[in-house]
Amino acid sequence: RLEIRNIVRSYEGRRVVDDVSLSILPGHVICLLGPSGCGKSTTLRMIAGVEMQDAGTIHVDGQLVCDTVFRVPPERRSIGLMFQDFALFPHLSVAENVAFGLRGPKPEQRARVAALLERVGLSHHIDAYPHELSGGEQQRVALARALAPRPRIMLMDEPFSGLDNRLRDGIRDETLAVLKEEGTSVLLVTHEPEEAMRMADEIALMRDGRIVQRGAPYNIYNAPADKAAVAFFSDIN
Ligand code: ATP
Ligand code: MG
Repeated sequence: RLEIRNIVRSYEGRRVVDDVSLSILPGHVICLLGPSGCGKSTTLRMIAGVEMQDAGTIHVDGQLVCDTVFRVPPERRSIGLMFQDFALFPHLSVAENVAFGLRGPKPEQRARVAALLERVGLSHHIDAYPHELSGGEQQRVALARALAPRPRIMLMDEPFSGLDNRLRDGIRDETLAVLKEEGTSVLLVTHEPEEAMRMADEIALMRDGRIVQRGAPYNIYNAPADKAAVAFFSDIN
């Protein structure tokens, strides 16, 4: 469970994340929707721990991960990342990519890698290198790599936007199924209304650094908070 309370981040005196609070239950997906520049990625970076907030707290499973003085480093937060530009390591094989964040005995690492690659349908590519895979296959390896250390939280910043439409639906559904199985809490940033409707247990609308509306997808769709949200959802056909 992820719990963010009142986080604030300013750049050059401008609040780009302005008092954001969110909580995500285990196995739930929250979609963060909002226009370019409203502060979505900055919010994710603070949760991941690669950037520090000016105020507010973040807890994972009841444990304080950071406030303004205390800070758990990113690799010890039990948080997995899938970003659009978060490429695989080109010089490592598929198996080595997936094993990258794993610690402990080698036989157990190998078993975990094999199980995940089987789960995403890539067992036959275990010794391949990234350049030998299609975009969709690379994305599935990235998913396996992100899940390997069993993160409690998965942060996804437009993870499917590099894929063509044909591939995207399949990988999105597959990803969702694996995340649900693992009971991971997910915060997903997307620009696609259909993706949000399809994946989210809850949608949070963000405007100018603030969460302006939060609720079940169906409710947000039926009663969007502002004109921008109406326009956003009107793209769904
Ligand atoms: P997009 O949908 O385009 O990815 P976003 O919602 O993810 O947008 P952010 O990347 O969080 O937006 O940026 C929020 C605001 O903060 C933007 O106005 C951006 O210019 C500004 N910003 C982000 N990072 C920095 C930085 N390191 N220094 C100064 N300003 C920054
Ligand atoms: Mg962004």
